[in-house]
Amino acid sequence: MDEILQNLPELKKGWIWLAGGGPGDPGLISLLTLKGLRQADVVVYDALINPAILDMARTDAERIFAGKRGGQPSPKQEDISTLLVKLASTGKRILRLKGGDPLVFGRGGEEARMLVKHQIPFRIIPGITAGVGGLAYAGIPATDRHTNSAITFLTGHGADGGLAKDIDWDALAKASPVLVIYMGVARLPQLRTQLLKSGRHENESVAIISRATTNDQKVLETTLGDCIEDLEKVDFPAPAMVVVGENVKLRRGLDWLGAIEGNRILDHDVSDITPQGLRLIMKADDD
Ligand code: SAH
Repeated sequence: MDEILQNLPELKKGWIWLAGGGPGDPGLISLLTLKGLRQADVVVYDALINPAILDMARTDAERIFAGKRGGQPSPKQEDISTLLVKLASTGKRILRLKGGDPLVFGRGGEEARMLVKHQIPFRIIPGITAGVGGLAYAGIPATDRHTNSAITFLTGHGADGGLAKDIDWDALAKASPVLVIYMGVARLPQLRTQLLKSGRHENESVAIISRATTNDQKVLETTLGDCIEDLEKVDFPAPAMVVVGENVKLRRGLDWLGAIEGNRILDHDVSDITPQGLRLIMKADDD
């Protein structure tokens, strides 16, 4: 293992590695992120980073929290970028660690552009994004021939407190059988209204996944029609994401994490799941 790490690129002095920390499970970080953790003098990390991942950093490494937490005062993006530039100019080795993938709804691009502007050398290390890793841990295939040949990642969080304005919702609802919505739980009422208005059906399957891939992972299986009422009945702490699509039904036969925890996994006949997904789900699921 150490030899494998040795053969990977070095995190050099004055460099920044902009790395993904994956969705939560420390086992899901990449070898390059692990190497960055082992070498960095300073780790600048986000709210979503599991403390067990930070524990992999050098014991003498400086750890700086630069996270954004919904509802609480958080550092401005400019301040974080300025901090990174300042730290790098001191000649330290910096690991900028972000939840999931740094370039997926993570503002990694903005931080990297700032580094370019200040001519600071950097490397980008992708991570497993919540929309991929979280679905896998929930036993929901991101794509499956039975349900969807396309998938869309979107944010439920627009700039002004509403939904994102630059999404053509009618086109999206029609074209993408599966929607994976980041930062969508707080806007679930608006999302539901918009999706129904844009032609999605209230019987369509929905999963809400809280703290995916961590020991606290919870999955709620519901429908577009019932999701808000069902969510009110349970305690689903952030971070959480919403999956809309018939691939959610495949979980019945694929909940491998539940099986490890002792639930019996059923050999699920998928023939009742309509492959076309959209619009064809006109009759209520009789389960
Ligand atoms: N860069 C991150 C996403 C940051 S946006 C990535 O690639 O995963 C933050 C949103 O991501 C949260 O509001 C939530 O919707 C989703 N998210 C991140 N980690 C999650 C987790 N472990 N479980 C569920 N949702 C998660």
